[in-house]
This record gives sequence, structure tokens and C-alpha cells, in this order.
Amino acid sequence: MYPPKFGYVIPDSLDEANEFLETHEDAKALAGGHSLIPMLKLRILRPSYLVELKGLNDLHYMRREAGKIHIGALTTHYEILKGNLPLLSEAASTVADPQVRNMGTIGGVISHLDPAADYPASLIAMDATVKIKGTKGEREVPFKDFAKDMFSPDLAPGELVKEVITPEFAGYTFSYKKLERRAGDYAIVGVAVLMRREGDVVKDLRIGLTAVNNKAVRALEAEKVLLDREPNEKLIEEAAEKAMGYANPTSDIRGSAEYKKKMTKVMTKRALLEALKR
Ligand SMILES: Cc1cc2nc3c(=O)[nH]c(=O)nc-3n(C[C@H](O)[C@H](O)[C@H](O)COP(=O)(O)OP(=O)(O)OC[C@H]3O[C@@H](n4cnc5c(N)ncnc54)[C@H](O)[C@@H]3O)c2cc1C
Repeated sequence: MYPPKFGYVIPDSLDEANEFLETHEDAKALAGGHSLIPMLKLRILRPSYLVELKGLNDLHYMRREAGKIHIGALTTHYEILKGNLPLLSEAASTVADPQVRNMGTIGGVISHLDPAADYPASLIAMDATVKIKGTKGEREVPFKDFAKDMFSPDLAPGELVKEVITPEFAGYTFSYKKLERRAGDYAIVGVAVLMRREGDVVKDLRIGLTAVNNKAVRALEAEKVLLDREPNEKLIEEAAEKAMGYANPTSDIRGSAEYKKKMTKVMTKRALLEALKR
């Protein structure tokens, strides 16, 4: 309940935040605080300083630019939910509860990289990229490489996530299906589907899974089952079965590995059916 002692820094600029974090390796950036503060309260972490990002407006925006959507790292789950973005807004609506959604940020989620977080299923399906800023400048990496492993983002000391970039996906239908024990909980299984059809034929399909591996994965073989085909019950069943092959879950309080694997198939089927209905 009681965090350990720490110093507190309120930088005037992103450059100042980068510099302070680079020269104080055990300092931690503070965004929405809804993963960091719980960890401090359990004393899992003992940072020397917290560096408050909240006032840095150059991390707080959502804009469309040349067919891409740019989401500043400090954009909250609530703002994304309200932003009417394909797939991502639906995923945001399932994150935690209203209080957490008012504070938590997309930059915080992907820097923290809980293996059961909701956005990563969508970000992997969307081929999102992450713009990172450090003292030496900016770099952009695909989300699939940025997420190296659970709780292991591709961030060097002093670097901060600046924004998440996704294509617009105009004309796509989508669905994010989250299995949870109760409203407000992390996912037992989460499946994101993005689909583009011409007539009844599936022309592009992306299926992202969360909570069933160390990090989010794309179920590529499942996608292939429906690509360039007219979906029917048998093909959807086959695709969902193939998605199950990408799940390598662990048993925990949310369910056994066997249950989670089976539910990957069930949730994939539900997400595919919903995307097809829309
Ligand atoms: C009760 C509860 C339920 C929750 N349920 C869910 C859920 O169902 N699904 C889900 O996905 N999440 C859930 N969460 C987590 C929530 O979404 C957090 O807000 C999120 O994981 C972290 O974002 P934040 O902005 O709060 O980051 P913070 O807690 O401030 O920071 C998290 C980590 O990221 C680092 N960091 C933050 N911003 C940056 C940046 N721009 N660049 C580099 N590093 C940065 C911090 O230093 C820290 O290490 C839940 C949290 C709570 C408390």
C-alpha cells in the first residue's frame, strides 16, 4: 500500500525528460500511473525519481496525416475510446474500468507490455509502428519488434515512446473480443480481427491474439484460411482452429492453459463472425 521514498521531477520539455532519464538510469517515467503506481505500492520497484510526463503537450494528440493515424503517447484510453478509430477504439472500451481509462495512456501500455494488455492484439494486427525519442533523436520501429518480450520494450535508457502510428484502415470491418472473469479485469483471452472484403470475398485479414503468449502474436495461418475466399461456417471453424495453434498460454488464476487454448478458438470464431456481420 505504501510506496517507497522517491524524488519527483517535473520536466519543462520532452528533451529535458529524455536527458534526466538518460543520466538517472533507475528513474522512471510516469504517465497515467495505473501500472507504475500499483507496482510502487507493492514495492516491486524502487526508482530513485519519477519523471512526470503529464504536462508534455508534445506527447498528447491524435491526428490523421497522409493516410495514417498518429496517436501521441499520452493519449488516454478514454480519448482513444472516443476517437472513433477502427479496432483500437473498441479495444480501448474494454480496458479496465472508467477510472483507469481516464488516466491510463497508450504509451504507458506499450512501454509496460503486460502480456494480457488489450491494445497489443490490435496493434500487431494493424502493423502499427512506434516512434521513440531519445537524446540523440527519433527512431521508428514496427510494434512487433518493439515488443521484445513480456515487460520488455525496445527502449534504451532515456528513450521515451512519442507516438503510435497505424494505417487508417478505411473500409475495413473489425472486432475485438475479450474474455474476462468480470468487467474491469485483464483478458483471459483477447482476439482482434481486421477485415476487408470485396463483395463476399475476404481480401485482407489480420488476426491478433493477446494474453495467450509472452507477447501478442498474429495468427497468420488462420488468416490464410479465409484469404481470397467467401467465408462459410466450415472455413470459419477451420480458421479458428488454426488460431488456437498460436496460443501457448500458461495456467494461472484466470484459468488452465487447456481452457485458455480452447477459448482462443471460441473467441476467434466470435470475432470473425462479428467482423463479417459489420
Ligand atoms: C485495476 C486495473 C485494471 C487494469 N485492467 C487493464 C486491462 O483490462 N487491460 C489493459 O490493457 N490494461 C489494464 N490495466 C493497465 C492500464 O491500462 C495502465 O494504464 C497501463 O498498463 C499503463 O499505462 P499508464 O499510462 O498508466 O502508464 P504508467 O503506469 O505511468 O507507466 C507504466 C510503465 O511505462 C513507462 N512509461 C509510461 N509512459 C511511457 C512513455 N511514453 N515512454 C516510455 N516509457 C513510458 C513507465 O515508466 C512505467 O514503467 C489495468 C490497470 C489497473 C490499475
